[in-house]
Amino acid sequence: MALAIASLIALIVAVSFPFISFTVSGVSNRIELTQTATTLIGFHQPVVAIAVIMTIVVLPAVYLLGVFWLQFGLLRDRPLPYSRDIARSLAHLTPWMMADVFIIGALVSLIKIAGLADVEIGISFWAFCAFALLLLMTTQSLDADWMWFSLEGEPLAPEGTQTGLPAGDQGLTGCPTCGLINRLSPHGRGHCIRCHEKLHQRLPHSLQRTWALLGASAIMYIPANVYPIMTTTSLGSSSPSTIIGGVVQLIQMGSWPIAAIIFIASVIVPVGKLVALIWLCLVVRRSSVLNAQSRTRLYRLTEFIGRWSMVDVFVVAILVALIRAGSLMSITPGPAALAFGSVVVLTMLAAMTFDPRLIWDTPLPPRHSLLRRKAATKEPVDG
Ligand SMILES: [Zn+2]
Repeated sequence: MALAIASLIALIVAVSFPFISFTVSGVSNRIELTQTATTLIGFHQPVVAIAVIMTIVVLPAVYLLGVFWLQFGLLRDRPLPYSRDIARSLAHLTPWMMADVFIIGALVSLIKIAGLADVEIGISFWAFCAFALLLLMTTQSLDADWMWFSLEGEPLAPEGTQTGLPAGDQGLTGCPTCGLINRLSPHGRGHCIRCHEKLHQRLPHSLQRTWALLGASAIMYIPANVYPIMTTTSLGSSSPSTIIGGVVQLIQMGSWPIAAIIFIASVIVPVGKLVALIWLCLVVRRSSVLNAQSRTRLYRLTEFIGRWSMVDVFVVAILVALIRAGSLMSITPGPAALAFGSVVVLTMLAAMTFDPRLIWDTPLPPRHSLLRRKAATKEPVDG
């Protein structure tokens, strides 16, 4: 609760004061944090603007208020109304909060323009850094097991549950949100008795949905690289630059580390994620216990790194808002910003619809089935 309150205060400071200002040949511009989103609306990029404001301000604020609401009730030993629904939503909000990614975007933007203009960092910038750190600490310190135990207690395992046997064979499944073991209906569906999350034996049409989302993101990856992501106007002449063009430009400027960050975030991560998920979809039916562990690790990695690709979209949002000195020097967003943003969101959704349990749906080799039979003779769980 202390961390959630501190993060909220830091966020309020971050949106109330100047974020960054720049001066070039006597013309200066100062922006606030929210202008990184609102300026994009003026350039007919409302979807990118919504994505920026949601991921850096709105969703984190909703998350922190939810944590405050929950912990306030729990500290008084009387959970406040809707606590269960809020606790369930927190898990779904976490991957979409990108304050930490935005910080990297801000640093990249600063280095990109440092040689071209005088840049001054405002109070809000430091407040936002503190906010990103505190938000990370809040998500890390939230103990889901303890929270669910305090909110709804620990219901017993369904009657007849046996240890040592795979849950699937017994018509059981673990809740993805609160971890409780539940019995499913004969159709392999149900709701968690503790948190009311929808449960499935396996996510319905998981592979088809993942394929569809992967196809869509592969298609969007083409305009994301062909069209310019932003156009820089300097002394009346404008030069559009693509994602790769931006990386080449940074190398020419001598900023190797920044070029590497952008190259990894904008090229290696999205392409690697696409290839990894396509490969998982192709081989999932031929998994075995021998490779299931490494495949699960690969899946977790793709799930974890996906959001970091947003760096380039944030760089565009910051530079477009900040660099506005008319024909002297200004930056406008290109069509690739929307295309690339959608690649990031679509691959994140593809990773979420892929059911990693499919990797383990495989007949065990003879040695393991012996172990399984041995385990089956043990006593049933008493909860
Ligand atoms: Zn649950």
